Amino acid sequence: MTVRVRFAPSPTGMFHVGGARSALQNWIFAQQNGGVFVLRIEDTDAARNRPEWTEGILSALDWIGIERGSYEGPYFQSTYAGEHTAAATRLYGEGRAYYCGCTRDEVIARTGNTHTGYDGFCRDRALGPGEGRALRFRTPDEGETVVVDMVRGEPTFENKLLEDFVIARSDGSAVFLLANVVDDMTMGITHVIRAEEHLPNTPKQQLLWEALGVKPPVWGHVPVIVNEKRQKLSKRRDKVALESYRDEGYLAAAMRNYLMLLGWAPSGDREIVPWSVVEEEFKLPEVSHSPAFFDVKKLRAFNGDYIRALDSEEFAAVCAPWLGGTDTIPAPPWEPAAFDSGVFAAVAPLAQTRIAVLSEIVDYVDFLFL
Ligand code: GLU
Repeated sequence: MTVRVRFAPSPTGMFHVGGARSALQNWIFAQQNGGVFVLRIEDTDAARNRPEWTEGILSALDWIGIERGSYEGPYFQSTYAGEHTAAATRLYGEGRAYYCGCTRDEVIARTGNTHTGYDGFCRDRALGPGEGRALRFRTPDEGETVVVDMVRGEPTFENKLLEDFVIARSDGSAVFLLANVVDDMTMGITHVIRAEEHLPNTPKQQLLWEALGVKPPVWGHVPVIVNEKRQKLSKRRDKVALESYRDEGYLAAAMRNYLMLLGWAPSGDREIVPWSVVEEEFKLPEVSHSPAFFDVKKLRAFNGDYIRALDSEEFAAVCAPWLGGTDTIPAPPWEPAAFDSGVFAAVAPLAQTRIAVLSEIVDYVDFLFL
């Protein structure tokens, strides 16, 4: 069996550091097992279908070391709508799914509770498709679903506690739970490594794999990343975009090493190690079960150490974008003609011992050229 893993981001306009970590973990797992890394863009939400967002994902992956041409894809979820519908139709045809015309308010009125899931009202009403009718998967009333998970062991879910969940909307389009499974099947995915926030979806998805007659993948749910207040890292509250770290002057090598240290450490008393050591030693079962703290101060210090480890030519090369400006990095405050590379070379060794992120080079040398 060839190991096939995938990274399946939904385009959001920026590349979340948690996504970068998942991508790296999948990438390493594929490397270690002689497997294939597949990139799938989950673009079924029409509002999320912007080509520049996909381009942003590809270039962020490139930056972090997962380069175009070295993986399979990108595939686009939206092009598999036919497969999604066929799976929904098949489940309905085989009696594994049924149409339901209940609104959320009706369910709440019946159950008296906004937290319980669907109450099964339409289970045996034999409704056909129609306006306002969603398709629900009939979960088993008995037994349990055991998820084989490389990080969590064997989380076990009682089937009777799993609601009959929606798999397709009234317009026939599949929801995430089904589309994601069908795509993984279509792409021959053997191991699904992703963030723990998807663990509650997993028993439902595993039931879909089984109902569609395909052996489920092995799962690996990695604990989420949190901020200093132990809140899940969020794009509204925290700096989460990989691009903003890149444009501030974090080195890709420092960033990817740091991301891999979230909830894991290499052998010995080491944190900064060559990437080849991470690739060799990283093991999903060793990843901590607790949320990982994304410590920006530590990342900064880490980056400073990486900067100091560069030789003088490498240091000049990584500073260049800040000394001239690029599409995403603002031009420095001096006139381009005022910049003198000989003068820069003379102060660079000292600057290299002082800065923690590359953007700081501008403040460090500007008095020389203003
Ligand atoms: N598009 C989903 C996400 O970004 C994919 C989840 C998964 O990896 O299965 O959360």
